[in-house]
Amino acid sequence: MSGPNSSYDPVEVEALKPAAVEAALADALAAAAAATTLDDLKTARLAHAGDRSALALANREIAALPPAAKADAGRRVGRARGQVSRAFADRQAVLEDERDARVLVEEGVDVTLPAGRTLRGARHPLNTLQDKVNDLFVGLGWEVAEGPELESEWFNFDALNFDPDHPARQMQDTFFVEPPEAGLVLRTHTSPVQVRSLLERGVPTYVICPGKVFRTDELDATHTPVFHQVEGLAVDEGLTFAHLKGTLDHFAHEMFGDGTATRWRPSFFPFTEPSAEVDLQCVVCRGTDRSCRTCGGTGWIEWGGCGMVHPNVLRSCGVDPDRYSGFAFGMGVERTLMMRYGVRDMRDMVEGDVRFSQHYGMEI
Ligand SMILES: [Zn+2]
Repeated sequence: MSGPNSSYDPVEVEALKPAAVEAALADALAAAAAATTLDDLKTARLAHAGDRSALALANREIAALPPAAKADAGRRVGRARGQVSRAFADRQAVLEDERDARVLVEEGVDVTLPAGRTLRGARHPLNTLQDKVNDLFVGLGWEVAEGPELESEWFNFDALNFDPDHPARQMQDTFFVEPPEAGLVLRTHTSPVQVRSLLERGVPTYVICPGKVFRTDELDATHTPVFHQVEGLAVDEGLTFAHLKGTLDHFAHEMFGDGTATRWRPSFFPFTEPSAEVDLQCVVCRGTDRSCRTCGGTGWIEWGGCGMVHPNVLRSCGVDPDRYSGFAFGMGVERTLMMRYGVRDMRDMVEGDVRFSQHYGMEI
């Protein structure tokens, strides 16, 4: 646009005619008053106070007026625009107040209502206990080892010194997996993990092997076809039965309290020689109650089996039994849990009732 045009007269410029300015003002005020929502108001503000509104266009025309005419036109348009801007601001404030009041009512929260509680589950106590045992042995510098649950017969029996016709193969009531020639079983104990660990790691080896094992037992108060064992194996130079006893005594004290006595009875396992059964002093009556239901009044509870690793097992794993010796032990995790917490029925552990996990699984 070139400089001021002296031939312009505001009364000749359509947009600047007083009537046009008044009409635009009236339209704008009416639109502001008519808006009932903030969105409506925004649209109306764009139309009546935006860059393309009648008053903005009129304002732009002022620049082209002769200097003498500018002041009057500028005042009129400026006043009108000021009024429009205030009207919209006032209406905005009113509508915002209304919205806030409505939100307060609609989104009101009754803080006295009871909260919707989501039940939190808990880790199964068997897992928690297994972790505790692992931690205990990791603290002694041992490693945690795991192996497959579907195991070859060689690892489950042969490598552990079970002869092919050894009665223990039947004694253990094994789940054989078809086809029979595949030589696969659901592992009946975690001992095959010991063999695998020894083969993998060589000597010295100190491993704790927790895991699920399978026997063809019916589920009742004291038996379950799937249960958990934790086994330990140490093979090194110069290990003796005294090391085994010291380790298990420490285990017993950590699990069942300081001073918990152990009792050792001679036993037989194909993979250890000599072998022993370990009993724990009754954790309920400590041997003082003849009518104790936990120990049947004997003061002792069977805990697990153990012994010095049979030289044949060491040989199976490529370890020289003349130079190295080892000890091994195994406990049922369920049994340990039953003794630790006084759980009477094995079925409670496998039924998956969340109340059981919550009761026993919440320890810190
Ligand atoms: Zn007792």
